[in-house]
This record gives sequence, C-alpha cells and structure tokens, in this order.
Amino acid sequence: MSVIDSALSQIRQLQPYSPGKPVEELERELGIGNAIKLASNENPLGFSPLVADVLTRASKHVELYPDANAYYLKQRLAQKLGVEQNQITIGNGSNDVLDLVARSFLDSSAAAVYSQYAFMVYAMVVQACGAKAQVAEAMGSDAAQPYGHDLDAMRAVIADNTAVIFIANPNNPTGTWLESDKLKSFIEQVPEHIVIVIDEAYFEYVDLERYPNSLQWLDQHPNLVVTRTFSKIYGIAGLRIGYCVSSPELCDLFNRVRQPFNGNTLALAAAQAALDDDAFVEQSRRSNQQGLQFMQAWFDKHGLDYIPSAGNFLTVRFGGDSARVYQSLLERGIIVRPVANYNMTDFLRISVGSKPQLEQMFAALENIL
Ligand SMILES: *Cc1c(COP(=O)(O)O)cnc(C)c1O
Repeated sequence: MSVIDSALSQIRQLQPYSPGKPVEELERELGIGNAIKLASNENPLGFSPLVADVLTRASKHVELYPDANAYYLKQRLAQKLGVEQNQITIGNGSNDVLDLVARSFLDSSAAAVYSQYAFMVYAMVVQACGAKAQVAEAMGSDAAQPYGHDLDAMRAVIADNTAVIFIANPNNPTGTWLESDKLKSFIEQVPEHIVIVIDEAYFEYVDLERYPNSLQWLDQHPNLVVTRTFSKIYGIAGLRIGYCVSSPELCDLFNRVRQPFNGNTLALAAAQAALDDDAFVEQSRRSNQQGLQFMQAWFDKHGLDYIPSAGNFLTVRFGGDSARVYQSLLERGIIVRPVANYNMTDFLRISVGSKPQLEQMFAALENIL
C-alpha cells in the first residue's frame, strides 16, 4: 500500500483549484513581452500610491513576525465599517476565511449548501472537510439573473445536518447578484443554528440601488458571516489579505482555528493604507462601470450573449466556439478565463481591463470570430 492511499479519501478526490494563467508563463511560452491577463478579476488600475509608500517602509522589518492580532488594521476596518474590532477575523485572502468557516463547522456528518455555478472555493473547502455538498439548482438561462443563485432552491435543499450556507453576492463566475429584500427574507427563514456566509468579494464595485450591505443584518442575525477582500477593488491580490465580519462569538471561534500569522507584515500595512484612499476606490469603481459598458456595447454589436454582471468581469457565451476562442486569444497574448470547470463550457469569463487592454482584446476577437 502506498502512502497516498493513507490520505483522507476526500483529499484524494479533491481537484486542485485552476487559477488564471499567469502572464509570465504565457510570455515565456510565446516568447513575447506584452501579454495581457483578463482572467483573475484583478484591478487594471493597480493599487493606491498610498499602498506603495507603506510597502517600502514595512519591508524594512520583515525579520519580525507580523502582529498576530492585526490590531491597527482591525481598528481601521472597525471604524470604517461601523463594527467592533472583536467582530473582525483576518484571513490570508478571503479564501482563507472561507476555509476557517468550513473547518469550524463541517465534518463528515455535516452538510453545506451552495448554488450550482457558485464560486468554486465553496465546493473545495466543503469537500476538504469531508462534508456533504447540497448543491441547489441555479436560476435558468432566461431568468433576470441568469445562472444566479435561486434562494428558494437553496432553502429547499437545507437538511437536518446542514451546518453552513455559502452565498456569493455578487457571484463569480456569473456576475449575478441578490436584491436586499430577497436576501433579507432568506436569512430570516434559515434556522439560526446554520451559519450563513455572504461572500462580498466585489462589494465595493457594485453600484446598484437594491444591492445590500449585509453588515446591517449582523446585529439581528448572530449566524451571519460577511466576507470581504483586498484582492479586488483594492488591487493587492498578490499580498493575500481578506477578512470577515461576524458576531464576536463566531469571530472568537475562527481565531482558534486560524493560523497565528495568516496576515503578513506587508499585507497588513498595505491593507490599512488602502482603506485610506477613497479616491482610488471611487476611480476604480467608475473606470469599471465604463469598462463594463464598453464591453457590453461591443458584445451587443457582435450579437454575443453575456450574463449581466455586477462585478468587474463579464461572462460571455461563445457557445461551441469557447475553447477555440480561448486558445486563439492565448496565441495572441491575451489570457481570459475558461469556466468549463463550472460546467459552463459555452462561456468565457473576461475581466474588465483598462481601455487599451480591452481594445487589444476586441481587435483580436474581430480577427478570431
Ligand atoms: C476573488 C474572489 C474572492 C477573493 O479571494 P481572495 O482569497 O480574497 O483573493 C472571494 N470570493 C469570490 C466570489 C471571488 O471571486
């Protein structure tokens, strides 16, 4: 018997996460130097200059362990979000926080609910714990939010052993979102021993009247966990830092399973500085709206269907051509994201790039199509 056979069966069956192809890798393969990546929903504007300043300073003391309690970042976040510091758990990216929730509540006797086409990491953390996945069928292709979460279907799959429900608002890879009144009534109907995770990775990008800030429900619902990240609008995905806000009691639990130094020195300093630059966030949000409109207009003009998106990406239906379009774009130095791992083989997910990046992609697409 090989040592691999001794590994937990749920781990042996796990499929590794398939990330967007790194720019350097494609450039090496093609022998070019100007590839563009529209595959991981990164901020095309980069990050705030305030972040650059503190990184230089913080890098002078990397011989020291980081502040395991992230005191100053939590203080700044608490002030900004109107919550208490003891409600905030820091993660090595918000993916880390999703893992903390799973490890705190799921084992082989428990189950977790998420929607078909929901962010892949939910499936991964649930399986890594050996828990059962209760996957709710998504909205149909003609719905107002095509392929989006169907909250009625999610409620219907809840069972006695359900311990966690994962909701992405907006969801990746669909870009679909949930309205305030519908999400609120869902939360009110879920039994309060079940943890509800609301993943708001794209929160700061959303500019829609009925889109909720789920933090407002925390006081009423001690089973709620709201996750956010510095990877998306704040533009520091490479530093790996995210967080969740919950009741102090849940926060205390997560801090017991959390690795003591999961927020590193540079990330803590950068995140704190990023919170000070509202102008950068506003500029990023505006630029994203313009980019989305530019993309939608182009795809409309070329008769290509897409899922309306509240995020910083657009998931476009290329039909049976998807794999060929992906490859052809790659050959032209442009990386987008296949979503075949979500069983959405007809689609490609394209991040909202800068205007020049989008123009470069559309020029290539004109050619390919
Ligand atoms: C990008 C993304 C995250 C954030 O991941 P990090 O670990 O914070 O970089 C979380 N949830 C969803 C739905 C995402 O798309």
